[in-house]
Amino acid sequence: LEHISAGPLTVSFEDVSFGYQAGEPVLRDLSFRLPSGKVLGILGRTGSGKTTITSLLLRFYDPDKGCIRINGVDLKTIKVDVLRSRVAMVTQDVQIFHASVRDNLTFFDQTISDHALKQALETLGLWDWAEQLPQGLDTMLRSGGGNLSAGQAQLIALTRVFLAHPDLVILDEASARLDPVTEALLDRAMSGLFHGRTGIIIAHRRTALKHVDDVMLIAHGQKAHYSPREHF
Ligand code: ATP
Repeated sequence: LEHISAGPLTVSFEDVSFGYQAGEPVLRDLSFRLPSGKVLGILGRTGSGKTTITSLLLRFYDPDKGCIRINGVDLKTIKVDVLRSRVAMVTQDVQIFHASVRDNLTFFDQTISDHALKQALETLGLWDWAEQLPQGLDTMLRSGGGNLSAGQAQLIALTRVFLAHPDLVILDEASARLDPVTEALLDRAMSGLFHGRTGIIIAHRRTALKHVDDVMLIAHGQKAHYSPREHF
């Protein structure tokens, strides 16, 4: 991947099977191809294997059978740190630190100027949100995000990922009930984040599908459906 030029990545799963330890296979002969710059929505019931697909992509585990490729390169031949510098994931449990909103957004990266941070927040449609916080970017957050809703914590995570300029973004969407204001902000931020990038969204809300080009339905670790969103 060091040799692959920057830009949205292509992802392919070729007959991938995987199980945790000695258990039942969780993914069975899964194949799909996500072209560069497209966003895929993955749907399926709890336990169907959605998160496992993304864990394999980040190489928390390797397939038992089959091959995963990024831009045609077998994932197993890519250094994990290089892979994770280009593929970013937003999970549902966002780490929030006892620190200012600024430090939580930049992940304590002091090379990110307030100007750059403001630009990022503007691109994501979040600047007004940040500015109206009691002390703006200096507002202190509690460890664990006690003073944020799940949706607001996800807004922070989206901004962090945006600032890291990944070429593939994986988003496990907040499944908690969102208030309408936060939901609208999240939708705007998602548009900004996925623009010009390859993306995978584990979608919990029907409305999240407006961000995707293709839809894949997973049932019992197998591909039950894959089509452009319009045909879903
Ligand atoms: P959800 O919508 O609830 O997040 P999911 O579709 O993402 O579910 P996975 O998390 O991929 O499903 O889980 C698929 C199966 O693998 C489930 O039966 C789950 O119990 C099992 N599983 C997931 N992670 C592990 C793990 N670390 N060790 C053992 N089994 C696991």
